[in-house]
Amino acid sequence: MVGHSRLFWFSRSLPLRLRRYIMPRLPQPPGDEEAKGRLAIFSSPLSLRGDPCFLISHIERQQSSPPSVIVIGGGISGIAAARALCNASFNVILLESRDRLGGRVHTDYSFGCPVDMGASWLHGVCNENSLAPLIRSLGLRLYRTSGDNSVLYDHDLESYALFDKDGNQVPQQVVIKVGETFERILKETEKVRDENNSDMSLLQAISIVLDRNPYLRQEGLEYEVLQWYICRMEAWFAADVDTISLKNWDQEHVLTGGHGLMVQGYHPVIQALAKNIDIHLNHRVKRIVQRNNRVIVTVQNGNTFVADAAIITVPLGVLKANLIEFEPKLPEWKLSAISDLGVGIENKIALRFDKVFWPNVEVLGLVAQTSYACGYFLNLHKATGHPVLVYMTAGRFAYDIEKLSDEEAVDFVMLQLRKMIPDATDPIQHLVSRWGTDPDSLGAYSCDLVGKPADLYERLCDPVDNLYFAGEAASADHSGSVHGAYTSGIMAAEVCRRRLSVQHGVADLLQLVMREDFTEVMVPLQISRM
Ligand SMILES: Cc1cc2nc3c(=O)[nH]c(=O)nc-3n(C[C@H](O)[C@H](O)[C@H](O)COP(=O)(O)OP(=O)(O)OC[C@H]3O[C@@H](n4cnc5c(N)ncnc54)[C@H](O)[C@@H]3O)c2cc1C
Repeated sequence: MVGHSRLFWFSRSLPLRLRRYIMPRLPQPPGDEEAKGRLAIFSSPLSLRGDPCFLISHIERQQSSPPSVIVIGGGISGIAAARALCNASFNVILLESRDRLGGRVHTDYSFGCPVDMGASWLHGVCNENSLAPLIRSLGLRLYRTSGDNSVLYDHDLESYALFDKDGNQVPQQVVIKVGETFERILKETEKVRDENNSDMSLLQAISIVLDRNPYLRQEGLEYEVLQWYICRMEAWFAADVDTISLKNWDQEHVLTGGHGLMVQGYHPVIQALAKNIDIHLNHRVKRIVQRNNRVIVTVQNGNTFVADAAIITVPLGVLKANLIEFEPKLPEWKLSAISDLGVGIENKIALRFDKVFWPNVEVLGLVAQTSYACGYFLNLHKATGHPVLVYMTAGRFAYDIEKLSDEEAVDFVMLQLRKMIPDATDPIQHLVSRWGTDPDSLGAYSCDLVGKPADLYERLCDPVDNLYFAGEAASADHSGSVHGAYTSGIMAAEVCRRRLSVQHGVADLLQLVMREDFTEVMVPLQISRM
């Protein structure tokens, strides 16, 4: 979850004015329904194949209508963008390829309780977090798994139980001691960075540090615990340590307040934002044409949608794979940003048991000779009271898991669990994610590759005429996160709104909408730790 603090064109937290602007308005004012009737966007499989004069005259007839925008992608960024433009009385349509909303926010309810197979933490439990007002107003509970500055990012050390492959629990003082050594090693990598103009992988820098400071080397069990720390770091970046950029890995702009699990899952956030938006599920965009100040979007079944602008929020992995054809082609500066930014991978295997048989800790971890072979389970029982464990994998290991069938993946995970708890019972239900091969995500979230330019996130988000870009990878400040994607969607909508308002001469009307008095619910975030 890398969010860089280098060049920003918008502020770290969402301005209050914008936060008010994006908050869902319930119930919707009647004006919104009226606006739908005047929709400037139209769907017609014949529109491009038929008489072009019809198309132009149709568009001319719509000049008095509010500006129209097609939002492509129904993840948090697309929904946030669509919500913002709907609130500004724009004509908005959202096209989503899947049969569900949320994208990489995916709360599954088949266990009889919410299980997030994509994002599950709010990174930065603080009022500065752009999602805080919405989470507060929905009364959603957070279970804090770490405070600020944890060496394990989203978990505090005391919440772990680590085991070796023979099922012996690693003494806590060993875990703490190796944790401190790990921090020292990482601190020493800063010197390596300062000495070198060119970038290298974090793994390479660590091995330079260990060569120079043999006293930091670990042996035996301590070595395995060190590998486990590296494994946790790989999970944070969704990438292997030999691909993580030394220059960028710690340039992250993590919000304060630590990390909180969304106890009821992330779905209620999506649901609240999506209310009353004109959403078309199962609409996979294949082609985007910019012509005569309009954007013409074609979906897989041949249907075509036309609007004044489009906001593209499909994942970076989808853009990299060229699954959408652009006419004219995207400019070189945009294409190189798409290819230079990396996409990491993370997967989850969730298991429901009939009862709890594991220790009452937040995380069960298995140490091993390599970070690849280490593993860990998130104990959802601690946060939610349900007998659910979630095995988390990242980097190459997460790719390899995707090659297995569900049953093989569960067998593998149970083998890991039984190394720690030999009499573990079989799960009664399971879920396996495949974010790397899922054609609608093709990866988990963006990450910095070694030796690439520093302005990639900014270039990802910069508009190309009336095409605007949003999503986690277009968030310079908080990439790889839900709140980063959300803010990016709102900001893209705001830039689009300003430009189109000027073009359509509707600034006054929209300012009026912006001034509307939204009541902000000033209840605190609900945080617990059992
Ligand atoms: C396993 C995992 C764990 C994570 N954990 C956390 C966490 O704990 N906390 C956190 O903050 N973040 C986490 N993240 C990251 C977070 O989920 C993402 O950063 C965020 O949800 C991305 O939102 P988005 O709107 O940018 O993209 P998406 O949610 O991917 O939305 C893009 C949408 O575009 C759609 N789409 C794709 N192709 C097309 C097409 N051709 N036409 C139309 N629609 C299309 C997709 O179906 C999708 O709905 C995690 C991600 C993963 C995968």
